[in-house]
Amino acid sequence: MRSTFEEVKLAEISKEQVLERLAKVRGPDLESDIVSMGMVSGVMIDDGKVIFSINVPAEKAQELEPLRVAAEQSVMKLDGVAKVLAVLTGERKAGAAPVRPAPSPQQAASVPPPMQNRAGAGSQPPSQSAQSGKIGVPGIKSIIAVASGKGGVGKSTTSVNLALALNRQGLKAGILDADIYGPSMPRLLGITDRPTANGRVLDPLESFGIKVMSMGFLVEEETPMIWRGPMVISALTQMLREVAWGDLDVLVVDMPPGTGDAQLTMAQQVPLAGAVIVSTPQDIALIDARKGLNMFRKVEVPILGIIENMSTFICPNCGERSDIFGHGGAREEAERLGVPFLGEIPLHMDIRSNSDAGTPVVVSEPNGDHATIYRGIADAVIARLEAEGSGSETKGPDIIFE
Ligand code: ADP
Repeated sequence: MRSTFEEVKLAEISKEQVLERLAKVRGPDLESDIVSMGMVSGVMIDDGKVIFSINVPAEKAQELEPLRVAAEQSVMKLDGVAKVLAVLTGERKAGAAPVRPAPSPQQAASVPPPMQNRAGAGSQPPSQSAQSGKIGVPGIKSIIAVASGKGGVGKSTTSVNLALALNRQGLKAGILDADIYGPSMPRLLGITDRPTANGRVLDPLESFGIKVMSMGFLVEEETPMIWRGPMVISALTQMLREVAWGDLDVLVVDMPPGTGDAQLTMAQQVPLAGAVIVSTPQDIALIDARKGLNMFRKVEVPILGIIENMSTFICPNCGERSDIFGHGGAREEAERLGVPFLGEIPLHMDIRSNSDAGTPVVVSEPNGDHATIYRGIADAVIARLEAEGSGSETKGPDIIFE
């Protein structure tokens, strides 16, 4: 995480400069260069770090390793470049990529490099998408964003219970607290430890069976953080790519609330399999939810569905129901917008008190009504991810990391 906080003066690097350098690297035919052969894609520049992919036939990945190294070295020569990561991507035929773990010997053995990353597999919307240029995270099959148009609707509470419910449904799950303005995972999961650095990467913390990373582990909760736009992206990139997540079926990303530039860039930069929108039922909240939904649509991230949180108040004493914020608004809105409705979570003291105590309701009352609701939502999310995968005709390239 160091580079986020360091004030390192680096010359601005442009994508054109990177491509200019790469145009000096000869392709496998030794005549044309890799840029004019259309082999380079997904160039990302982030705080002196340059990441891009070189598309090669999957079966040639091994023998083309020197090409990858040459490309990295060529870009490294640019002024202002601190680090370069080139990945070989190999086109594969389209095919369904189940989200549920299908334990196979190859899969079990797929952690150490060289490994085949299936990030993005099963994650493409049916049409050719802006998503396909994104670089996946090795070992993580699907990354989903949990977002809300505004704060206070229970996005973080929903994220954490969803991640835990996905885990209880048999998936290897993790949670990345990208709500860097108000990280809440340390509190929600009762974590007071700090992650340890393992060389260049950080080991995530583990809580109730899920892997967790949050900016809140690295700074005190009360520390005011003033983030400039590029720092937000740099912090997120590091939390995503420089953390030893290992093999995960699903990584849940708790997004910062709102639909500003930072959120849009995140939605654009993270290789998302889909987004879940959390809203309370009242009209005013739904307007914000719609904004969130449109933001993801703009960057062609599939909408997995809408969750109505604080749907109905259930009195802890008498069990009587009252619709404080209304009820059913999100379901109607989902229908109107043609996106799936994933479920409704009541407003209940137990959900709040367990969150505050660092023992989310899915684990503290695993057989209770609320845990059952969250598991139902987790099932709906899994089904949506699988549907997105099997409906895919233009699956993104698999990435082969050496
Ligand atoms: P956000 O991430 O959208 O800002 P939080 O998850 O931090 O929202 O939730 C805001 C507050 O509402 C917290 O105190 C949380 O415990 C409470 N809360 C969230 N969802 C529920 C719910 N379904 N029932 C009761 N309290 C809830």
